[in-house]
Amino acid sequence: MAEKKNTAEKKKTTEKKDTAEKMKTAEKKNTAEKKKTAEKKKTTEKKDTAEKMKTEEITEMSVEDKLRALYELQKVDSGIDRIKILRGELPLEVQDLEDDVAGLETRITNFEKEISALQEAIAKKNNEIQNSQALIKKYQEQQNNVRNNREFDSLSKEIEYQTLEIELSEKRKKEFTQQADEKKSFIEESQKLLDERKGDLETKKTELSEIIEDTKKEEEQLVKRSKEIQSKIEQRLLAAYQKIRNNARNGLAVVTVQRDACGGCFNKIPPQRQLDIRSRKKIIVCEYCGRILVDFDRDEQENN
Ligand SMILES: [Zn+2]
Repeated sequence: MAEKKNTAEKKKTTEKKDTAEKMKTAEKKNTAEKKKTAEKKKTTEKKDTAEKMKTEEITEMSVEDKLRALYELQKVDSGIDRIKILRGELPLEVQDLEDDVAGLETRITNFEKEISALQEAIAKKNNEIQNSQALIKKYQEQQNNVRNNREFDSLSKEIEYQTLEIELSEKRKKEFTQQADEKKSFIEESQKLLDERKGDLETKKTELSEIIEDTKKEEEQLVKRSKEIQSKIEQRLLAAYQKIRNNARNGLAVVTVQRDACGGCFNKIPPQRQLDIRSRKKIIVCEYCGRILVDFDRDEQENN
């Protein structure tokens, strides 16, 4: 009877031990798997949360924060616009100076041509004067050998005519010389102007290459900043901003109230609407131009 009991107990113990071990193993396995699944779940959740948070962050942004982000974005984008305008205007200035230089050079060349034409005309008059003087000499000699008064008078008339011709030529010569002198002083003036313009042109060219160099870096930084801000703004609002900006000639989509008027189109804004803008509780657009109106410039002025 005692032996039976003993065996029974042994069996029980063994069985218990077995079960315990089995259970332990099972538990271990289970825990491992559970852990694995949990980790997997965690990763997926983390990813989900990150995305959710981003969306939530954007959608949970207060209207004021949205407006502030748009205002910041506008400032950065306007900075990019300014650089683009600057880079566009300076080449035009250089082009203008190049045109000026070319124009002055042409003017000087033309004056020089006119002067040499005048000098040729003066030389021609000198020849004519010499010819007339030779003719006069010849007629005077002939007068010494005339047969009658009529021949003498006729030669006298020829001499008179040639004398008048000489006078006329001298008068013309004087005029031509005057004209040539005038043109010479024009050339001097133009040359001075040309030297100035050439100096300006060199300066502008240097400025242009420096600006292109500098603004490239600045623009890259601004574009980066613009993208950063854009990523914080919800898609629909950003699209609206871009649309207004593209339609506006000055690239302004977000403007401040200036002297009770819209900073974009300068139409008056009613007092109630201005209060709405100041409350920053909803997005207010200008009823005339559709630009988004903000009042953050007041904060800036206070801070300064
Ligand atoms: Zn407006």
